[in-house]
Amino acid sequence: VPSITSAHSWAGPVPTLSPETKPYWDAAAEGTLLLQKCADCQKMQYPYRAQCCHCWSTQIEDYPSAGVGHIWSYSVVRRHRTGKNGGGPYAVIVVELEGGIKFMSNLEEADLDAVAIGDAVQVRFDGYAEGAIPVFVPFRDEQIDD
Ligand SMILES: [Zn+2]
Repeated sequence: VPSITSAHSWAGPVPTLSPETKPYWDAAAEGTLLLQKCADCQKMQYPYRAQCCHCWSTQIEDYPSAGVGHIWSYSVVRRHRTGKNGGGPYAVIVVELEGGIKFMSNLEEADLDAVAIGDAVQVRFDGYAEGAIPVFVPFRDEQIDD
């Protein structure tokens, strides 16, 4: 399991924490991507929530993700008015993680003309004042501590 920290900072919108999602965001601030596994039906789920989305059990447990997966789908946004990347292109990806979990995020540090479904990626946490946001970068099989 790569232990990943990042000096990159997040400049986009930030989450509003609720009692239900606070453990997820607290873990993200510490560099852990939390998924959940149901103790009753053994299925995984994301987004983080108080009940199992498969069987409605409340016996769900935190499941720290390895933070490594494959691009399941992606879109390169070339024309936008968001201000992201100084108006330059950026990639939105859906990463497939453990248990088939699909996780929507941004892809950073990648050649946007060479992105492909199936590419291996790993999580990076970009900090903001009160926490950190998970984004993904091409898999490097090493710690990200830049
Ligand atoms: Zn369940």
